[in-house]
Amino acid sequence: MDDCIFCRIAAGTIPSKKVYEDDNVLAFHDIAPAAPVHILVIPKKHITSAIDLSPEDEALLMQVFQAIKKVAQIAGIAQDGFRIVSNVGKNGGQSVRHLHFHVLGGKAYGANFG
Ligand code: AMP
Ligand code: ZN
Repeated sequence: MDDCIFCRIAAGTIPSKKVYEDDNVLAFHDIAPAAPVHILVIPKKHITSAIDLSPEDEALLMQVFQAIKKVAQIAGIAQDGFRIVSNVGKNGGQSVRHLHFHVLGGKAYGANFG
């Protein structure tokens, strides 16, 4: 999708601060970090949001979560723990309509979701 910013980041036509990459998944630092560690993990394939996943994406979704684990290890937050967030749609606060998982760490979160 030419007009999708995360597709363009995945294609390398918009630069990003890469943390991890494999054939199907890319992780890069969020441009406006909301935590000491704030990394976005995306499938390179354009999927609009979590509710747009289909059964054919089963293996890809597993690859995304394997990448999240690697990213947490690379960023040094695996031991202490972290938060994974995926916003869906307008009320979910999704501003980029390409499935992404926020990996937020380096601070302690409480049980509240605001
Ligand atoms: P969301 O609001 O859940 O859709 O999250 C989108 C995230 O993408 C926000 O946290 C933005 O700061 C981040 N973002 C937008 N453009 C870029 C970019 N070019 N590089 C890195 N992060 C970005
Ligand atoms: Zn996209």
